[in-house]
Amino acid sequence: MRTTVVTGSASGIGAATRARLEARGERVIGVDLRNAEVRADLASEEGRREASTRIGALAGESLDGLVTCAGLAGLPNRPGRVLTELNYFGTIELLEALRPLLAQGERPAAVAISSNSTTTSPLVPRELVELLLAGDREGAAALADQLGSLACYAPTKLAVAHWVRRHAPTPAWIGAGITLNAVAPGKTETAMIAEGRADPVIGPHIDRFPVPAGRSGQPDEIAALIAFLLGPDARFFCGSVVFCDGGTDAAARADDWPAPLRKS
Ligand code: NAD
Repeated sequence: MRTTVVTGSASGIGAATRARLEARGERVIGVDLRNAEVRADLASEEGRREASTRIGALAGESLDGLVTCAGLAGLPNRPGRVLTELNYFGTIELLEALRPLLAQGERPAAVAISSNSTTTSPLVPRELVELLLAGDREGAAALADQLGSLACYAPTKLAVAHWVRRHAPTPAWIGAGITLNAVAPGKTETAMIAEGRADPVIGPHIDRFPVPAGRSGQPDEIAALIAFLLGPDARFFCGSVVFCDGGTDAAARADDWPAPLRKS
């Protein structure tokens, strides 16, 4: 029986992923603040360390899959550092900590959750992306607090996508037989979106975001893609950032991607 760790498993995309994997007979080790096999705060370094230790104890010698769904959106009263800690370090520190177990797994696969905000938000602060990718936790937290969390969502998700693309094709990942990819969902009806709609400042803007498909996504539509990337038919995927957003990214910037190789 395959064993897969899903963070953010108590709600939304993580819960839908858990349901899909269990329906096909896999064992899921959920990680969340509540209603999970491993209850841990992935927004703190200590919480991430504890989570990795407890996952190791439950998984044993190996792990077959890892999906990092735990994440938060920006809100006017939420400090920026919560997003750098959870969305970015809560993703990449778990990927790093569990990579040795994945290397011992059966056709191991990891999927990180990015977002279509990476390519459709105006004025993404590049300096924050650089600090995150450099692993400067304190520098990133300080800048994030200055910017406020509303400005931090897209850069944390862009840094996750770039981390995945930098690491997936290396000996440590694909060289060890582990596929590593990212999914970039568009607006999906989960608790995260409900929280945004309930906010008096950003609530009125949530449903103004153009989605050519004419509707939001459902968590199970994103879970279906994640389950595919974890499965036997996706073994040639390596470092892909797969958008699933009802056409928002394509409509906003049709010709930006694929982009030709830059001259060095
Ligand atoms: P959700 O709120 O339904 O689920 C998020 C989960 O993360 C919850 O179960 C929550 O308890 C958990 N979590 C929050 N803080 C945590 C912490 N400190 N430690 C451990 N767990 C914590 O939201 P969702 O929409 O399912 O989000 C899943 C992922 O998808 C997130 O990374 C989000 O950024 C991303 N995403 C969502 C959308 C969308 O429109 N819903 C779009 C793009 C990307």
